[in-house]
Amino acid sequence: MSLSLATVAYLGAAILFIMSLGGLSNPETSRRGNLFGMIGMALAVLATVYGPRVSEAGLAWVIGALVLGGGIGLYAAKVVKMTQMPELVALMHSLVGLAACLVGYASYIDTSVQFEGAEKIIHEVEIYIGILIGAVTFSGSLVAFGKLNGKIGGKPLLLPGRHWLNLVALLVVIWFGREFIAAKTVAEGMTPLIIMTVISLLFGVHMVMAIGGADMPVVVSMLNSYSGWAAAATGFMLSNDLLIVTGALVGSSGAILSYIMCNAMNRNFISVIAGGFGSGAPAKAASGEAAQPQGEVVPVSAADTAELLRDAKSVVIVPGYGMAVAQAQHTVNEITKTLRDKGVNVRFAIHPVAGRMPGHMNVLLAEAKVPYDIVMEMDEINEDFPDTDVAMVIGANDIVNPAAQDDPTSPIAGMPVLEVWKAKTSIVMKRSMASGYAGVDNPLFYKENNRMLFGDAKKMLDEVLVALRS
Ligand code: NDP
Repeated sequence: MSLSLATVAYLGAAILFIMSLGGLSNPETSRRGNLFGMIGMALAVLATVYGPRVSEAGLAWVIGALVLGGGIGLYAAKVVKMTQMPELVALMHSLVGLAACLVGYASYIDTSVQFEGAEKIIHEVEIYIGILIGAVTFSGSLVAFGKLNGKIGGKPLLLPGRHWLNLVALLVVIWFGREFIAAKTVAEGMTPLIIMTVISLLFGVHMVMAIGGADMPVVVSMLNSYSGWAAAATGFMLSNDLLIVTGALVGSSGAILSYIMCNAMNRNFISVIAGGFGSGAPAKAASGEAAQPQGEVVPVSAADTAELLRDAKSVVIVPGYGMAVAQAQHTVNEITKTLRDKGVNVRFAIHPVAGRMPGHMNVLLAEAKVPYDIVMEMDEINEDFPDTDVAMVIGANDIVNPAAQDDPTSPIAGMPVLEVWKAKTSIVMKRSMASGYAGVDNPLFYKENNRMLFGDAKKMLDEVLVALRS
């Protein structure tokens, strides 16, 4: 493929990526958006593989790597459970970071292309910054992976003087950057480069370890953004325009998502990155542990739940992580259809950080074919709870915790929540009295107008559906 044809293909791919992002901004157009992205990526890969920069001798290597990587990716995507998606995404981010590091080292060692003067400095700055971002993304994403799959606890690790540690690390990295650029030979430049890489890896670990469970959504979107910048840095190192454009698109959309997440959680972005939120968590504070009783809870049966739903004029369903675990979305859709056929006004309330990844609930509801027009964002529906007969909470916990409003010492204090307790009756569906991801007790369970439907969400909803239809 000639250079001009490859350039045209890259331009087409860049346009397709932009159209893909546009499509992904709305659930109704998201499938089309995904398709644009896939076509764009196929075009980009083909134009690169058959482009002027891959020699005939190198082609076999590239195709071999494509088959191997593509095979692993395909297998991982096939076997991954929906609840493991956030971990998989974190792992993918780490691979982008690792790739940036490896490309950085390779292009530094590669002496086949010689740069002189200002060009040499620019090239080395690209390498240094590329490896720095890549290493932070790599180790930070690995820790996020551990935190998301529960292998690493959600409690923030707060080292004494951590801000000073970070500042010193930054100054050391700048100092070695100067050394790296002043180095006359590759061997001489290697030492500062390796020291910087180690510091960046440690910084990535420290940054994510210092973040409390409830703030993980911001970290996930932030690492998403970092992976974009790492890809853009790789694009600079390889002089690949499309990689720069794609990386910048991912980087900036991830940054916007982080900003939206911070707003949704009423957090200051810099404070989240600096870590330490969630440090006031109560002593137990580990996800999954039983909360200390604060009063009486009133259990309810599936049959009584169906009765309450049947008698209601207006129902708001609040899905959370437990719905994803139970894979209850299809039954939820069946219940919704049955109730709507009976003339009940059913709507869904989606909290921006429900589940374990941005848009998690929207994806599940779309998969179950719940109509988009009854799926509401938190801001659209929160005021309607006082006029709601039944608020049905399905495997959600932190996002409906009134302590966020009432208890200034709570680790989730200030985070906007769905005010389900303002409905005439709220029903919380979960298996036990265990806390949610943030490890915080939930006073909602003990409210007078709240009922607890204990059990696996899918099993209980199946029973509710049978009772509703009988
Ligand atoms: P939570 O983690 O707060 O609560 C989920 C609840 O679901 C648990 O209390 C659990 O209780 C219940 N549950 C689990 N499995 C089942 C099942 N099979 N059937 C019924 N219930 C079940 O989830 P939320 O969605 O309310 O809140 C999301 C939390 O995750 C927030 O703290 C958010 O900050 C964090 N987070 C969000 C990310 C995002 O991007 N959205 C990323 C990372 C973290 P029990 O064990 O008793 O059944």
